[in-house]
Amino acid sequence: MDIIEIFKRFPQQEDCISYLEKVRWNGSPKCPYCGSTRSTPLANEQRHHCNNCNTSYSVTVNTIFHQTHLPLQKWLLAVSLILNAKKGISSRQLARDLDVHRNTAWRISMKIREAMSQKDHRELLTGIVEMDETYIGPRKPRREFPGDNRHDRGHCSNKTPVVGMVERGDYGEVRATVTKKDQLKAHDLSALVRKNVDPSQSLLMTDQYAGYGAISSFMPHRTVNHQVWYVDGDASTNTVESFWALLKRGIVGQFHKVSSRHLGKYVAEFCYRWNNRRNADIFGLTIAKALGVA
Ligand SMILES: [Zn+2]
Repeated sequence: MDIIEIFKRFPQQEDCISYLEKVRWNGSPKCPYCGSTRSTPLANEQRHHCNNCNTSYSVTVNTIFHQTHLPLQKWLLAVSLILNAKKGISSRQLARDLDVHRNTAWRISMKIREAMSQKDHRELLTGIVEMDETYIGPRKPRREFPGDNRHDRGHCSNKTPVVGMVERGDYGEVRATVTKKDQLKAHDLSALVRKNVDPSQSLLMTDQYAGYGAISSFMPHRTVNHQVWYVDGDASTNTVESFWALLKRGIVGQFHKVSSRHLGKYVAEFCYRWNNRRNADIFGLTIAKALGVA
């Protein structure tokens, strides 16, 4: 849903609330405090009175919108802007677009990222899966000789490693995990593969980093030699590299500097957009996640 549609469909606070109520309760309001569905609508502010525990509640209770002072239309606009920004959107930009303070923009975008990073019942990756790791953080000192920085594996830098696995194909999904430099050993990487990939239905492609050495003991595994510049048949890691390119353009171009504390949420945002790129109602899905019903 683009921002024009948001303005058209949700011109007033009441329109936003009706939409959230439909997504959260589908017509029968349920008390967030006691779970009862016996309620009486309160005329003002679109709240409900629980006939069981005698409290009143609105649809935003216990969601990312709880106790917000911001009009809900701005929240819906923020969701739309974040979902439509393929390379991410900075909170400064969001602040300008929504006409709110920069800190408010940052806070609501982190809440929305939180909703996007909720674990769903995800299936294991299958088919041809490309795996690679990348480093995110401050710019490194000048490389010693041209063209050789890709394989220095981030040593002597304070960058944070991110390990990714991407299924090839139009509907292929990505899993990416922020990790630590001392957790890139063979048993760490093998554990990540087992957690995310179905070994009986996949072929894993990686480069020749020694950490991937143990994978062939439990599943089909091919390696790509990046030093020799050719693609040997199917053996390439181009798909996962295009995901890294997108993520890095986002981090460098939009977020400028992401602290390692929040890096996981930004990575989750990029995974979420990638995994839902064919989903016609990614907006509805995100709102459902924000309301805790997806
Ligand atoms: Zn109640």
